[in-house]
Amino acid sequence: MTDKLYLQTPIFKSHKLQQEKGLHVFYKMDCYQPTGSFKIRGMEELCRFHINNGKRDFVASSGGNAGYSLAYVGKQLGANVKVVVPKSTSEFMINKITNIGAEVEVFGEVWDEAHHHALNRSRELNAVYVSPFDDPLLWKGHSSIIDECARRMEQPDKIVVSVGGGGLLCGILEGIENSGWKSTQVIAVETEGAASFYASHKAGKLVELEEITSIATSLGAKKVTKSALELSHDFDLKPFLVSDQDAIDACYDFSKEYNTIVEPACGASLSVPYFHSDTVGPGEKVLVIVCGGANIQIEALVKAS
Ligand SMILES: *Cc1c(COP(=O)(O)O)cnc(C)c1O
Repeated sequence: MTDKLYLQTPIFKSHKLQQEKGLHVFYKMDCYQPTGSFKIRGMEELCRFHINNGKRDFVASSGGNAGYSLAYVGKQLGANVKVVVPKSTSEFMINKITNIGAEVEVFGEVWDEAHHHALNRSRELNAVYVSPFDDPLLWKGHSSIIDECARRMEQPDKIVVSVGGGGLLCGILEGIENSGWKSTQVIAVETEGAASFYASHKAGKLVELEEITSIATSLGAKKVTKSALELSHDFDLKPFLVSDQDAIDACYDFSKEYNTIVEPACGASLSVPYFHSDTVGPGEKVLVIVCGGANIQIEALVKAS
């Protein structure tokens, strides 16, 4: 068996929430991955698949956790990774990616422009174009989160998960299916300024947002993958919205609970048991996917909370 690059992360029971609110909350700590987020799981699955099929060159269009995880996995597996990022990408994320040894090209004002440029580049270079969320290989990789939980804990009543483009959600649903956990309710969380899944679920069809106004940039997909919407109807799923301030405050509180910094994209999920505990009744076992995120600095978190 090949050694995996992603880690089997621990599951922590929240003693704080047990003590203060009588809640049974379990954290799946994917913030402890080598790249700080769950994205490494899907990227490893995707990268290995294409390398086994003779590919060596990859182009991604994310200055966030997807590009960073692809860079990490690609380096370990001996692939060439190029990440196209828009001008809005922070200097420290660019540095994280280049420090690994991947190439970064800055192009365009916003993600859409970087994305189109990356597509063209991948054709020119005969490279694999890597989407941050829209690929069944990514979902399969992400589904390992639930496989690990199913081996180590009883079936929870609820699973709380953040939704950006819906890749993580698709992976969680795939894992639930594989583990026979379909009676568990999934709470799919977004911030109000990035609510593309919420809007699509309500409309019963894919809705494209005009703009993203949330601070939770990793949730900022204007349109979710079609599969997230289609799959959601086969499960007990509840879309849920929280404010940016909830997401930030939850990051801050979590840093005090576990001495670990996560992005507001992850804070959105953490805020459900912290600040919306009426949605997770007492006596229920709640599993929160701590999706993590490397695109956050402690100074920004302290200032905003
Ligand atoms: C990518 C990401 C998300 C959202 O995942 P999607 O697959 O786009 O829905 C949430 N949190 C963090 C930290 C991420 O990196």
